Amino acid sequence: MAEKLSAVKGMNDIAPPASAHWEWLEDILRTLMRRYGYRNLRTPIVEPTALFVRGLGEVTDIVEKEMYSFEDRLNGEQLTLRPENTAGVVRAALEHSLLYDGGKRLYYMGPMFRHERPQRGRYRQFHQFGAEALGFAGPDVDAELIVLACDLWAALGLTGIELEINSLGQPTERLAHRQALIAYLEAHVDQLDEEARRRLHSNPLRILDTKNPAMQDLVNAAPRLMDHLGAASLDHFNRLRSLLDAHGVSYRINPRLVRGMDYYNLSVFEFVTTQLGSQGTVCAGGRYDGLFEQIGGKAAPAVGWALGMERILELLKEQGLLPEQPAPDAYAVVPDAARVPQVMPVLRQLRQQGVNVQMHAGGADGMGSMKSQFKKADASGARFALIFGEQELEQGAVALKALRGPRLEAVAEAQSLLPLNAVADWAARLRGA
Ligand code: ATP
Ligand code: MG
Repeated sequence: MAEKLSAVKGMNDIAPPASAHWEWLEDILRTLMRRYGYRNLRTPIVEPTALFVRGLGEVTDIVEKEMYSFEDRLNGEQLTLRPENTAGVVRAALEHSLLYDGGKRLYYMGPMFRHERPQRGRYRQFHQFGAEALGFAGPDVDAELIVLACDLWAALGLTGIELEINSLGQPTERLAHRQALIAYLEAHVDQLDEEARRRLHSNPLRILDTKNPAMQDLVNAAPRLMDHLGAASLDHFNRLRSLLDAHGVSYRINPRLVRGMDYYNLSVFEFVTTQLGSQGTVCAGGRYDGLFEQIGGKAAPAVGWALGMERILELLKEQGLLPEQPAPDAYAVVPDAARVPQVMPVLRQLRQQGVNVQMHAGGADGMGSMKSQFKKADASGARFALIFGEQELEQGAVALKALRGPRLEAVAEAQSLLPLNAVADWAARLRGA
């Protein structure tokens, strides 16, 4: 036998029954985006490596150690499986002049790739849903995006998700803070881990984002960026705060919140929960007014967030909120294989009328016993069985049997025999039952 192959470590198949939960979540997300006027953008999964190096910044976890980068063997191009999609959205917006007639509200969903240590809530292929508002200077759209996320938690029934916000100000303000931060960290250099020492002069702000528990006290006492912000940045932040207040959205200001990419400025935020262990950030984002220029385009303000779909689904599971598996309306029981050519077109008519019907599939040697067919019908979760028995078919009809849920009378009037030539009529009632 050939050697068994399995999926790449940290990359998962999503099969039934779990895939139904994904589809359910995706539907809710799409509906919500329509409500807020966000439209779908689909970009390639592979992008030029330079997009992420320039967009996210060279001294970031993603670019330093998490990207799946490779050379195209045929033409030598340097390519990367997208580790995130904000840079791709901005590239596409520039490439197609999407902002020619004003700002655009966009959303995406799909797989992202980061070479991380796989664990609960952290995978090498994972899925993000992201919302981006391009060409708007805020802070109204900043607030809109945050409120939209809160609406999502409510639509899903999720509780216990807390909002943290901060302002990263503008690059010039960060420069002043940077001096103070370097001086502070130099004074405590003995407490820095190897990574922090390496970043001390290249990207000290990133040190505040460390996940090393031994450094938490140190970074908690570090000089605050907030104390270096000018009037305009503070005003933007305060207006965002009052908008959140006006919505009754509660939040905590976390002066240490700096986010993992260099492209952020002004508003940054994260939605966190304590119910997922150490992978507690379910949604994160912020403003990135400098990104358009950084990847070679005309400057445009922008803000957005991305949520980790695996983490949201895990939290839904944790809170017992995952929906039941979808079931067909009806399951067709066909005792005699010779009747299949007559039955299949009837089922097709039903489906064309909007009824979800599953037909019992036979084997090479027939349809199987009635008992086994009814077992399958029951296991399918269908509310009705349609029995295409010999006697019924002789009368030009099909028998209806309620398996669960509503009473039979809702569908068939006096008897449970449905005439085949009135499919449309009883389809409407099957659907509505
Ligand atoms: P973390 O601090 O957990 O590494 P991050 O700051 O790198 O997260 P972002 O790049 O902001 O994450 O991505 C937004 C969201 O995508 C995260 O809040 C999280 O929910 C999800 N996410 C990020 N990386 C992974 C991963 N490797 N596996 C699963 N979900 C992830
Ligand atoms: Mg990360």
